[in-house]
Amino acid sequence: MTNVLLFLCEGLVYVAVMVTLLHLRHRLGLGVFIAALGVLHFIETYLAAVFYVQLPFGVISPGSAVLFAGKLMMILLLYVKEDAATVRQPIYGLLAGNFLTVALSVLLQMHQTVSAVPNRTADLAFIDEMGWLMLWGTLLLYLDSLLIILLYERIGRWMRGRLTLRFLLCGILVLTFDQAGFYIALHALNGAPAEVFWGGWVAKMGAAAVYSVVLGAYLHFSSHSVLSVSRQPIGDIFNTLTFRERYEDLLSKSGRDMLTGVLDRSRFEYEGPRMIRHAVDSGSVVSLIMIDADHFKSVNDRFGHLEGDRVLQALAGAIQSGLRQSDHLFRYGGEEFVILCDGLDHTSALSRADDLRQRVLADVTTPDQSAVTVSIGIASTSADGTTTRDLLSAADGRLYEAKRRGRNCVVGNI
Ligand code: GH3
Ligand code: MG
Ligand code: MG
Repeated sequence: MTNVLLFLCEGLVYVAVMVTLLHLRHRLGLGVFIAALGVLHFIETYLAAVFYVQLPFGVISPGSAVLFAGKLMMILLLYVKEDAATVRQPIYGLLAGNFLTVALSVLLQMHQTVSAVPNRTADLAFIDEMGWLMLWGTLLLYLDSLLIILLYERIGRWMRGRLTLRFLLCGILVLTFDQAGFYIALHALNGAPAEVFWGGWVAKMGAAAVYSVVLGAYLHFSSHSVLSVSRQPIGDIFNTLTFRERYEDLLSKSGRDMLTGVLDRSRFEYEGPRMIRHAVDSGSVVSLIMIDADHFKSVNDRFGHLEGDRVLQALAGAIQSGLRQSDHLFRYGGEEFVILCDGLDHTSALSRADDLRQRVLADVTTPDQSAVTVSIGIASTSADGTTTRDLLSAADGRLYEAKRRGRNCVVGNI
């Protein structure tokens, strides 16, 4: 019984100090809270490896029951008080720090050590054994952290407010997932018996309950206003947590075709499906306009490839000049372009395309001043399908039909 009480005391001391540091982050700086979380990670790993206590339901380590469970709850609390862009900092910091620890311990083992303190020698076997467990634990912690935040938001969609209950459900589900994941590794590495799983699980559930009550009370009484459910879609929260929005940012700067400066094929592959899915989900329409230059091969044949390139640039410029801000122009192939028009229905897309055709006819010429023409095929959601593939294939078929009808024309499904 004393052991249970000691566990409870440890949990309360832990949560009291960490919540205080978080609460004072505007005065102390958030780094204090995050550094404390990082330092605790060290003792947590050590305790989880060697420090066990007998409780009525099994042999438990404060490392996992108090510190590990606490850390996940703290990560969730940080998310609740701040946002996804902030909480990903400790998540990735812990990930990087753990990998670095394992990498350094590989190097450390190559040292010939000397005994500086009597009767103390470095336990290299321990470090070695911990390496694999730490790698596995690190990956699990990463998944746990993402999972607990996404679950918190998902559950919040069903029960707004109810913070204690949401913390509790998240804690129960994620700590169960974690216990199972970690037990699998322990079992595989040193044949840990099933009691290890159940004992640890009961302790983590207890920790989830205690921490949820304390954190729920803190959020209830804290003077800071707490957004009970994020207005961001869960997919966006995930993107922020995983730095995906940085990736998208990068994409927006790259992904341009070198010759014409319009978006390139890879951008189409990335953005096309997203745009179409988004439109389908929100009940709006997307039209896909596919443009192919007529007899372009003969332009190259007559004036050379370099002049052909210049004509292509002029062609892209003429098309771009007839587009709205929300239309996206891609160079899909050599002298083929695709435009995705968000919110443009089929009839409007037909007249937009005919306007483009006329612009090209009027503005783009070969060096001998003869006109360059284009043929165009159009497809729209949802009559022609609801995937990029459906739209491409319908538009491609109509483009072929436009070529068959003698080129320099637009074909849709009307
Ligand atoms: P059609 O009216 O049937 O489309 O006739 P076409 O000659 O345009 O047919 P096709 O699609 O077979 O030929 C496309 C030509 O475009 C072939 C290639 O030489 C030329 N081309 C593709 N990419 C480039 C490029 O980057 N620069 C130049 N100069 N020419 C290109
Ligand atoms: Mg072609
Ligand atoms: Mg062509």
